[in-house]
Amino acid sequence: MLILGIESSCDECAVSVVRNGAEILSNQVATQIEFHVPYSGVVPEIASRKHTEWILPVYRQALQDAGISEQDLDGIAVTDRPGLAGSLLVGHTFAKGLSLRLGIPFAGVNHILAHLYAVQLEDTVAYPHIGLLVSGGHTMITLVEGPLEMKVIGATIDDAIGEAFDKVAKHLGLGYPGGVLIDELARQGNPAAFAFPGTSLQKGDHRFDISYSGLKTAVINQRQQFLQPGCEASMPNIAASFEKRAVDMLLKRMLDACAVYEVPRVVAAGGVAANTYFRRALREHREIDAWFPSLPLCTDNGAMIAGLGYHVLQQHGGDPLSATVSARVPGFKRDYP
Ligand code: ATP
Ligand code: MG
Ligand code: FE
Repeated sequence: MLILGIESSCDECAVSVVRNGAEILSNQVATQIEFHVPYSGVVPEIASRKHTEWILPVYRQALQDAGISEQDLDGIAVTDRPGLAGSLLVGHTFAKGLSLRLGIPFAGVNHILAHLYAVQLEDTVAYPHIGLLVSGGHTMITLVEGPLEMKVIGATIDDAIGEAFDKVAKHLGLGYPGGVLIDELARQGNPAAFAFPGTSLQKGDHRFDISYSGLKTAVINQRQQFLQPGCEASMPNIAASFEKRAVDMLLKRMLDACAVYEVPRVVAAGGVAANTYFRRALREHREIDAWFPSLPLCTDNGAMIAGLGYHVLQQHGGDPLSATVSARVPGFKRDYP
């Protein structure tokens, strides 16, 4: 089965063709970053307008790269939640039109589950595993029991990890998007220069939850206060110390989750899974079998949507034309459907 995957939830306009949920035939990603740089963040109005301009050429290029014609497609998968409503609607409406014209089903796909599925396009990772979703909008520790079965066991109670990277970078005057810039700068810095505060451990049901707002504020407002003797308050040192703290805090909870659920296998996904220190630190935990998508499949792409969409179409069939998008997923933090 050839499935077309459409992703337009944020600032990437992406279309891909994937065979049987496993083999990527094409993966076109058109990023809008340059249009959002002047505002140091994604502007929803600009994002949806760019998607409207780009979606047709990106679609055509994806078919051409795959070496197929649109009549060869068996189904369409499209991100329908969560994300910017106006942006989601562009991809979703495009998918409906295409579905009507080609007489093939379309199915809405959850973007977060798709991030966690991305790794299966390159490797075969057994279920269950602990899914670590580290992106611009979400930070979650999950128990993944199948492509469509995920339970959230811990989540950020405030900022997402990617958001913390972006905000810290902005306040340090590094620019946008901040994650990659902090990653580069941190490589020249000393991660032990600053002892930034982390989250104090919470108990019971909340023991796997995490908070980034305290760390973010500490880095932004009190740069000198946490300086270790003999170290320098240089930008690379701040970046490296922040990055290490942000990642270590999360990995500690992840290790606890692996122990409690007795699942020594982890899949990391989302934009921050591209981070150099994050990847190294996770691999250093020898007791854990750690998996990552390659860098292009960590950030938003259509292949992960097409890949997961194959399973959605197989298990649930297509959506009705009355289906719509959802900016948020209800009960996202704990009782994920
Ligand atoms: P969500 O998936 O939650 O809806 P999103 O789609 O915007 O959010 P992604 O595209 O998965 O998120 O990831 C973007 C985030 O990843 C940004 O916050 C960006 O700064 C961060 N990021 C990308 N590369 C790196 C890196 N090398 N180091 C740290 N952060 C990074
Ligand atoms: Mg993005
Ligand atoms: Fe994403």
